[in-house]
Amino acid sequence: MNVSYKTYNLPFKHPFTISKGTKTHQPTFVVELEYFGVKGYGEAPAISYYNIPVEKMIEDLESKRIFVEKFSFSDPERYWHYLHHLFPKNSFLVCALDMAGWDLYGKLKKKQLHQLWNLDITKAPLTDFTIGIDTIENMVAKMKEQPWPIYKIKVGVDGDIEMIQALRQHTNAVFRVDANAGWTLEQALQKIPVLKALGVEFVEQPLAKDDWEGMKELYAKSPLPLIADEACVFEEDVEKCFNHFHGINIKLTKCSGITPARRMIAKAKELGLKVMIGCMNESSIGTAAIAQLAPLLDYVDMDGPLLLNEDIATGVSFDNGKILFNNLAGLGVDVKDTF
Ligand code: MG
Repeated sequence: MNVSYKTYNLPFKHPFTISKGTKTHQPTFVVELEYFGVKGYGEAPAISYYNIPVEKMIEDLESKRIFVEKFSFSDPERYWHYLHHLFPKNSFLVCALDMAGWDLYGKLKKKQLHQLWNLDITKAPLTDFTIGIDTIENMVAKMKEQPWPIYKIKVGVDGDIEMIQALRQHTNAVFRVDANAGWTLEQALQKIPVLKALGVEFVEQPLAKDDWEGMKELYAKSPLPLIADEACVFEEDVEKCFNHFHGINIKLTKCSGITPARRMIAKAKELGLKVMIGCMNESSIGTAAIAQLAPLLDYVDMDGPLLLNEDIATGVSFDNGKILFNNLAGLGVDVKDTF
């Protein structure tokens, strides 16, 4: 196999603010695996919160390039195990390579991944559209710019209830909120009933990622479902969320790819947890990987390409929240660049 990669700094349409800060660009790492002329692509955006910049992905890949290239590729799950042991501390790099392995595998089989997994695409939930934290006026403007059936609204800052109240004046769409670990237990206990009255569907990561005691109490008292994100990173975290959250938000990049994400989905379902996959502002490449898994999910947040001002692939599209699948093999995208 030949490995090539490119890095991008994708500009957002609007500066994107969550309770942890603001960004105007999304750095991302894209890898190409070429095997007998067939090319598979995978992506991992760099997220400063997880402390793996694109430079670290490049450094680690270059340090073991020969091992990545000499692997005799047969199936993506075997490849993931190999990568997981090769790069035990770089789940982002493993994600990009795992995704490329799956894209390659689908292309070799001339099928889209959901077809190989026998999934029914009519079961895919609608994706939400994310509204970052801004002035109320700008948040309303962003919502009006993108009419959508479900909005995920970033909260976790002072005045966040007033934000939701103001947005509610302008739409009857479903709201879900993401506090990104921005509340204390007391704030959550006070805010969640108000949010329920405002028609909010669920709350993502209300408390700090390690506040399991707080979550136990909130889980017992919350009138809205609670979804773990920062508290559920790797496979072993799924079980910890049982009896503390009602569901989990899997991110392909943080868990290290499609292969572990499929196991996390199965584990969560076994425990009776709701399952969501969220994005980390991936381009259409990483977003297409989420789309392949969408029929297995209760909720999906895969609006990356809608938030970005530039994309590096085509193939991901939506009709008012509904994911439109195409006939391209593998992930279902055409990458614009040559590597
Ligand atoms: Mg989140």
